[in-house]
Amino acid sequence: MMSQSREKVWSQGIAALRWRKSLQSHLSSLKHSSKITSTITNSTTATKCYRLCINRRAPLSFYYLQCNYSSKSLPDDLKCRCWNCNQSKSTSLDPFLSCPSCKAVQPIDTSIDYFVIFGIEKKYAIKDGNLDGKYKDWQKKLHPDLVHTKSQKERGYAAEQSALVIEAHRTLSHPISRALYMLQLEGIDVDEEETLSDPELITEIMEIREAVEEAKESNVLNEIKSKIQSKLENWTNSFAKALNNRNFEDAKNSIRRMKYYEKAIQEVVKKL
Ligand SMILES: [Zn+2]
Repeated sequence: MMSQSREKVWSQGIAALRWRKSLQSHLSSLKHSSKITSTITNSTTATKCYRLCINRRAPLSFYYLQCNYSSKSLPDDLKCRCWNCNQSKSTSLDPFLSCPSCKAVQPIDTSIDYFVIFGIEKKYAIKDGNLDGKYKDWQKKLHPDLVHTKSQKERGYAAEQSALVIEAHRTLSHPISRALYMLQLEGIDVDEEETLSDPELITEIMEIREAVEEAKESNVLNEIKSKIQSKLENWTNSFAKALNNRNFEDAKNSIRRMKYYEKAIQEVVKKL
């Protein structure tokens, strides 16, 4: 009999293979260069992409591009100049998803981070309004339906850029995914499956669960919810502080707690 962890690795491997197949057909439908499709045979990359994709429910092509088609492989002339009219990028803070001069959609440059895409400062505390306005602007410029009269090459770029903008918006809008992303930018990976072993927290979570189970009236549930919400807020602030001080261990610990409290809130909401 296979041990539980081996079974898990095994099923992930199978899923990654299946995923790779569907990604291959997806990319060939987008008519990507054979150079890109041939590199998908690397199974480590496929597994990595698959896990990202499952965890974040994002379009396959986008994760493939993020994992493999790094800025290193994007030729410099494509990074700095418009492929259509040769207009050069103004600054390194210019996301250059589409050319301001001829409006042609550009290929993805993964050296551009999500904050640059929305033209906001790289800080944990962000205003949703800034994000949403710019998001709508990009969608207007990149939406596949709006570029259907363009060449196949440009439609391909638009599909990828549009997926990138959706993913960037989704990541930055949510406090936990934004926190994880900011650590990722610092080169720090958080093992999302690692559980907390703090006995105090475990007891607390169990108590919350019991209270939710016993609660019959919505006002009781709402009270529990607002209590958990304020704890979540405290840990969110702790995360921001730890990140600011570049104390990444504390930052990771805060994220894990945020996830526990968020899950607890979801359980309350389910009962409401
Ligand atoms: Zn141009």
